[in-house]
Amino acid sequence: MNTREMFKKAVAGGYAIPAFNFNTMEQMQAIVQAAVETKSPVIMQVSKGARNYANGTILRNLAKGAVEYAKELGCEKPEIVLHLDHGDSFELCKDCIDNGFSSVMIDGSSLPYEDNIALTKQVVDYAHQFDVTVEAELGVLAGVEDEVVAEESHYTKPEEVIDFATRTGCDSLAISIGTSHGAYKFKPEQCTRDPKTGKLVPPPLAFDVLHEIENKLPGFPIVLHGSSSVPQDEVDTINKFGGNLPDAVGIPEEQLREASKSAVCKINIDSDSRLAMTAAIRQYLAEHPDHFDPRQYLKPARENMKKMYIHKIVNVLGSDGKLG
Ligand SMILES: [Zn+2]
Repeated sequence: MNTREMFKKAVAGGYAIPAFNFNTMEQMQAIVQAAVETKSPVIMQVSKGARNYANGTILRNLAKGAVEYAKELGCEKPEIVLHLDHGDSFELCKDCIDNGFSSVMIDGSSLPYEDNIALTKQVVDYAHQFDVTVEAELGVLAGVEDEVVAEESHYTKPEEVIDFATRTGCDSLAISIGTSHGAYKFKPEQCTRDPKTGKLVPPPLAFDVLHEIENKLPGFPIVLHGSSSVPQDEVDTINKFGGNLPDAVGIPEEQLREASKSAVCKINIDSDSRLAMTAAIRQYLAEHPDHFDPRQYLKPARENMKKMYIHKIVNVLGSDGKLG
């Protein structure tokens, strides 16, 4: 299914749909298990980097398998969107639309304003012929995500959103209010330090900008990228068992919970899944140096990701129990 009805209900209901990136079968299984157990709609998204890693055809068929798998797990009518994350050209979006994606993002945020509008409109005009929904982006997020890199962030300008949404016809809008891609969202100098734990405390999200955008576009679906919270227990596990991720820091979950209650109806989470997977694998291999069957360490990795997904759905986004 596409995101149209899903977002309408989420905005009205004051919750957000989880958008989890996936690259592997284990991630897909964990996402589906978590969504089924919590009765949550879910967006499974694929980045350009994921397509390069795993092959587009394989990921598409994994997503098809996800729907069947959800039914097999007892969910009569799963609500699963297959979404392209950060499409960077009309051709890439068209390829995904032609091959069964139900939603695409066209990210023209690095382009001049008028060029972003022209590219987004071109994708929207094509996508809507096939009832595929389109996410656009205004404003620039900092951080690194696959092939998306930006040094500095620029908040979305609220005075541009009506013009942009009207002229492009996009179905949802990713905005920049201080979230950031990756596991190193902020430099230490942008943060304060918790005197007790020594951990970095990131600067708060710009809720004033979010509320101004909501006032300009009442009820319009808003998307937050770069919204992993970088759970410190996972970071600690990674560092304890041979990793080296000093000062990895994310968006505090209370702020994401707060954002979910507003017009923010899709929250993207990628790094947290990578951390959960890596933490479990590092711990398992450190504790079982004689094991070498990938199933032995991928099983706890899958379990750990599933636990994280369920936590996000239930305690952060509030999308549990929201199926049809
Ligand atoms: Zn993103």
